[in-house]
Amino acid sequence: MSQTASGNENFFATPVEYLKGVGPQRADVLKKELGIFTFYDLLTHYPFRYIDRTKIYTISEATDELPYIQLKGKILSIHAVGVKRATRLIAQFKDGTGTVDLVWFQGIKWMRESLKAGVEYIVFGKPSSYNGKINIVHPEMEVAADASEKGTKNLQAFYNTTEKCKTRNLDSRAILKLQRTLLEKLASQPLNETLPESLIHDLKLLSIKEAFTYIHFPADANTLHKAQFRLKFEEFFYLQLKLLKLKLIRTEKYRGKVFSKVGDQFNYFFHKRLPFPLTNAQKKVLKEIRNDLGSGRQMNRLLQGDVGSGKTLVALMSMLMALDNGYQACLMAPTEILARQHYDTIKDFLGDMQVNVEVLTGSTKTAERNKIHTDLKNGTLHFLIGTHALIENDVQFKNQGLVVIDEQHRFGVEQRARLWTKNSPISTAPTNPPHVLVMTATPIPRTLAMTLYGDLDVSVIDELPPGRKPIKTVHYFESQRLRLFGFVKEQIKLGRQIYMVYPLIDESEKMDYNDLMQGFESVSREFPLPQYKVSIVHGRMKPKDKEYEMKNFVDGKTNIMVATTVIEVGVNVPNASVMVIESAERFGLSQLHQLRGRVGRGADQSYCILMTGPKLGNDSKLRLQTMVRTSDGFEIAETDLKLRGPGDIQGTQQSGITDLKIADLSKDAPVLELARKSAILILEKDEQLALPENSCIQRQLNFIKKDKTNWSRVS
Ligand code: ADP
Ligand code: MG
Repeated sequence: MSQTASGNENFFATPVEYLKGVGPQRADVLKKELGIFTFYDLLTHYPFRYIDRTKIYTISEATDELPYIQLKGKILSIHAVGVKRATRLIAQFKDGTGTVDLVWFQGIKWMRESLKAGVEYIVFGKPSSYNGKINIVHPEMEVAADASEKGTKNLQAFYNTTEKCKTRNLDSRAILKLQRTLLEKLASQPLNETLPESLIHDLKLLSIKEAFTYIHFPADANTLHKAQFRLKFEEFFYLQLKLLKLKLIRTEKYRGKVFSKVGDQFNYFFHKRLPFPLTNAQKKVLKEIRNDLGSGRQMNRLLQGDVGSGKTLVALMSMLMALDNGYQACLMAPTEILARQHYDTIKDFLGDMQVNVEVLTGSTKTAERNKIHTDLKNGTLHFLIGTHALIENDVQFKNQGLVVIDEQHRFGVEQRARLWTKNSPISTAPTNPPHVLVMTATPIPRTLAMTLYGDLDVSVIDELPPGRKPIKTVHYFESQRLRLFGFVKEQIKLGRQIYMVYPLIDESEKMDYNDLMQGFESVSREFPLPQYKVSIVHGRMKPKDKEYEMKNFVDGKTNIMVATTVIEVGVNVPNASVMVIESAERFGLSQLHQLRGRVGRGADQSYCILMTGPKLGNDSKLRLQTMVRTSDGFEIAETDLKLRGPGDIQGTQQSGITDLKIADLSKDAPVLELARKSAILILEKDEQLALPENSCIQRQLNFIKKDKTNWSRVS
């Protein structure tokens, strides 16, 4: 306890070349190949798996399919074969069930002298097959009597290395040896705890020394589990602490505009205009938003709600709260079509109410634009709906109180950052920015949301309005195409409209483009004019042509929309009741879910048909099965996270935030929850981390501050 504040850091930050057995050359490889610069880096270079050294196989069980094998037996004979450089040493090894060859290409002289025939050995290594016989190259050998004495019989750690490491004799076994040397050093080193005593006590955590020791040299499965728990907890704890501190800093820096009342406009809308009762989820979310708006802190809330859950209405009612408190509000959408759709929807909802609403997009005519600019500045315009055009510099509000961003994932990280961290450029008073509500229909698994948006507040609409007919989802193989076309014709006869979507993951990819064009031709052939009308939309078209084709479909002038994923987001055509997804095996789960969300918006039964080729990989199969089985966006997001790992989920790549060393966002959700709760409790009691009992947190935070995560890119 008398340890100085820098004690840990001195030890942790010691360059790895100071470890016995490393030296400048190996240090160089460790740095370049594994990013291990310091003792701390080495200690936290955790094993990726453990082999149970308590299990002894018989030779009769040995096959080259086993990754590792441990045998117990005796050496019958030892002899060298070959000459000069091609010499190898072969020991015939026998237990009661058969024989294998143990082979050495290096250290032959030494091995020959140390191996003894007739003595019982424990042999450990990777079995391989050579000339139809099982052999083990460069096995680990231990005299059986010694092995039981030293307690070697437990779980053995294995480490990730690279080919280059191996050529420098830095294989997994060598790293294990370095860990042993380092842990021996650590044992005699006074080390401060890196978590508060109270946490260690309450959660029955291992000490930091024990945890490091057992993660590399677990005595048994139980101690390994405890070590993993402690280290995962610690990793999450500091991650959450950093995020929560960011949030504290932000809320202290930015005063929020206080919306103290629920006024006439809101009440009139609620009692007179609302065409249906709010769902409980909508009520809950509105309450959360209202609390934020009245709190005196700037709201930064992420609203997640599955497609069709009724987010637009929540946005509108929040905007009415702004209006009632004397503020203007704006709603931003990622495309012109969506912006206009929102405008129409909101005008409809408001009906005869005295609220001035305009829409501003790239194609708004100059005269109209000028009028909007003027009315915004003098305050007569209450709500402005639009696209990116809204964040242009000449758009100036008189008194902007709320920014709503719809379908957030279409906006780049940078644009979000402009609004969230650097204030809205629309705002004229940077220390008093407008409240921000971001709405997304891409469900993010809770664990990921807590990490990615750990410094934001998250609301979830987890309920669809009543009376929705679930979308029927089926999977067809290419061989069932005629059946598909027949079905589509039936639906068109019933007056419905159809989406047919082709994968065009990269708009510049020629092959995808050709697929789309061929698809369009075959659809046009199958559905000829004048009986049928087909629209096409893809990313290579001029925006104007795109809008034109879209509008034709939205207005019901065409029956089929052949498109790429450009229609993924937001578009609302209630009469479109069939979504056909071509080459569905090539889409990610969340994308499939988004696409399916384009149908099921009207009163008719809707269908989603996933078309694939005959051959499917396991992951593709699981994705398709998941789609057929469920339409719950969160369940789909969880499966997606498990299939792809967190690194691939939108928005995570750039942040580095998911580069966890031991914890796993897709598997360790309960540990994450616990860590976040613990971090919150500590900050609630001691926001500045100034109490003596929290000094270890401050110290560890300072130490790990130098990590590689790019916090400025975390939204
Ligand atoms: P999303 O969350 O995907 O943006 P929308 O806001 O477009 O969903 O809502 C989808 C449809 O559900 C709209 O037609 C909307 O009018 C309707 N809706 C919204 N809330 C309710 C409710 N509480 N009850 C019934 N229908 C609702
Ligand atoms: Mg929407």
